[in-house]
Amino acid sequence: MPVIRSVCVFCGASRGRDPRYAAAAAGVGRRLAERGIQLVYGGGRLGLMGAVADGALAAGGRVVGVIPRGLVDRELAHPNVSELRIVDSLHERKAQMAELADAFIALPGGLGTLEELAEVVSWAQLDLHAKPIALLDIGGYFAALEAFLDYAVAEGFIAERHRRLLLRDDDLDRLLDRFAAWSPPEGRFPPPDA
Ligand code: AMP
Repeated sequence: MPVIRSVCVFCGASRGRDPRYAAAAAGVGRRLAERGIQLVYGGGRLGLMGAVADGALAAGGRVVGVIPRGLVDRELAHPNVSELRIVDSLHERKAQMAELADAFIALPGGLGTLEELAEVVSWAQLDLHAKPIALLDIGGYFAALEAFLDYAVAEGFIAERHRRLLLRDDDLDRLLDRFAAWSPPEGRFPPPDA
């Protein structure tokens, strides 16, 4: 069972339309800090990325940002994180974020968030890591993605046991407890029709 000391959060570089998103992201940062869990994230100060980092920092948490050199100005690297790692590429960002984390949480976001999430889940299904991954839902944001994944299972493109690699919750404390009790499902590979 994993000991969760460091959580990687994938989330939007935008704040979204509803102010609840940023408020919830800040709450996630704060709660991680209160539980003594390090936050690893993309290193920006905009959008939900900034909100989650600010929430953690305000509560005295340790925050590691990992940002590619080319995005330092565009995404506005956060000036106050505990540690800012400036890397050469998006690939290196994802690799470092994954290495530094014991678990992954996706908050609402756009294509970047989806891409990061898809990579860690697809790597888990290939047994390339065994760390828990979850959607932390805010206001039902992920309902359509969940419905799509269920449809992909029904249509034979995702195995049920791989679908279960992606947890979903709307409460961070409960989710962290589920992470701590999590063990990877048996027999994750091969693909469904093999
Ligand atoms: P978004 O969800 O589109 O607002 O993007 C959230 C974060 O994901 C931003 O920091 C993007 O720079 C980042 N991102 C977008 N594409 C990638 C990628 N291929 N690899 C790593 N990070 C990415």
